[in-house]
Amino acid sequence: MTDARSLSPQLPVLKLLIDGQHVDPVEGGTLPVVNPATGEKICDVPSATAADVDKAVKAARRAFESGPWGRMNASERGRIIRRFSEQLWQHREELALLESMENGKTLREAMRGDVGPGAATLSYFADWANKIRGEVLPVDGPFLTYCLKEPVGVVGAIVPWNYPTCLACWKLGPALAAGCTVVLKPSEITPLTAMRLGQLALEAGIPPGVLNVVTGYGDPTGEAMARHPDIDKISFTGSGRTARRLLQASASSNLKKLTLELGGKSPQIILPDADFEKAVEACFWGIFSNKGEICNAGSRVLVHEQAYDAFVARLAQRASRMKVGNPLEESTEMGAQVSAKQLETILGYIESGKQQGAKVLAGGARDTEGAKAKGNFVKPTVFGDVQPHMRIAQEEIFGPVLSCLRFKDEAQALEIANGTQYGLAASIWTRDVAKAHAMARRVKSGVVWINCYNEFDDAAPFGGYKESGWGRDLSHHALEGYLQTKAVWTKLPSEI
Ligand code: NAD
Repeated sequence: MTDARSLSPQLPVLKLLIDGQHVDPVEGGTLPVVNPATGEKICDVPSATAADVDKAVKAARRAFESGPWGRMNASERGRIIRRFSEQLWQHREELALLESMENGKTLREAMRGDVGPGAATLSYFADWANKIRGEVLPVDGPFLTYCLKEPVGVVGAIVPWNYPTCLACWKLGPALAAGCTVVLKPSEITPLTAMRLGQLALEAGIPPGVLNVVTGYGDPTGEAMARHPDIDKISFTGSGRTARRLLQASASSNLKKLTLELGGKSPQIILPDADFEKAVEACFWGIFSNKGEICNAGSRVLVHEQAYDAFVARLAQRASRMKVGNPLEESTEMGAQVSAKQLETILGYIESGKQQGAKVLAGGARDTEGAKAKGNFVKPTVFGDVQPHMRIAQEEIFGPVLSCLRFKDEAQALEIANGTQYGLAASIWTRDVAKAHAMARRVKSGVVWINCYNEFDDAAPFGGYKESGWGRDLSHHALEGYLQTKAVWTKLPSEI
């Protein structure tokens, strides 16, 4: 990788992308994009209003109903999506630098965890474009009856700030492969990579209007999408609070379909026969990669009482040695929290942990050493003696704060693991394979990792149980969310 310290980010065209054109918002508002590691403003981007959203939706509708996208062969659509993926890959260094600078994650994480996987996801779904098929149905009577799978229509993709490129691609890949058209709204905190993606899509040959990018705040931009009567589906990743707004807006507009990828409080369960070395490392990166701003962060570590003291001490030791600092430096392990607001939220949770009687074993404060005083840095924090009822054991912190809890047997481990509103991911660490599989069935979450954590593949679905959401991203399960099913009946002559 090029030495990023010698690079300044190449900014995208700082306009809305509607119908293949870069345009200013109707009322000309802007919002600032700030580098969270330095506190400096990078640029201003347009803040779209309801009128801009309406223009984008109209463009997407035209492209869906009468543009070339819906009429071209599925193989051709797949080839164009593949070119889009290749464009992303060719521009990966530029995108990763933008991502690191607007989000605060290390450049390494931006490349390996965000931009690279984003390109891979587009490539995976490019291959699906010409493999979507219906089926012939074995109905009674003299009929030929079959199912068609058809694109759901105009999709509103609303994504958060923690993996801006990757999560945009999790939506774009299946939506485009299914033949839908899209209005993409990135987070107001990290809009730059999505704006660049829009340009790259055009350069790859995605026809005007198929991918429109509107930047702006949750309200009015996101709200206008949520309430728009001509968006058929919203594919959302973000908080439960916003998900509830989307549900209300869907109910009061056109009952648009929703998939919701929300938060988590994911447990890592460590049984006494686990491979501790591997488990410590996985628990460490499970919470501290991407500075804990991961929906499936392993934010609760549940350790059997026989192993608890030694295991937790090793984890705390590893956390104390973590190198926090300039995200663009090669040796940095953890960058800056995404915003001053997020920093405040995390520090508030650290305070609540202390007040409720948990024991700080590592970190436990803001990191203001040297140049870090200007940015949003937090010391990697490990809490011991956490009780299941404490806020730091129940609520999603979305920061580098780990809660360690003790259990006495598998039944209690499962009770604690399942004892939150969330159900996104979990892991089980043991050498007893049968026990691991039996426990995996009892964990209420959309993903269970056994003797590993944070493993992803485009072929494996990702999404939550309970208040972690509805629907799935990735794999053919995600594709289903962008398709609808039509049954076609033909009466056959009974005399033949
Ligand atoms: P958020 O809900 O505040 O924002 C997400 C997106 O929704 C942003 O683009 C925002 O502008 C938009 N938005 C906000 N209010 C809106 C409204 N009223 N109508 C329409 N859109 C609106 O979430 P966030 O703070 O950006 O992201 C953090 C959350 O995302 C965490 O809870 C995290 O767990 C979750 N997340 C989940 C996954 C997953 O795959 N399950 C992945 C990443 C993040």
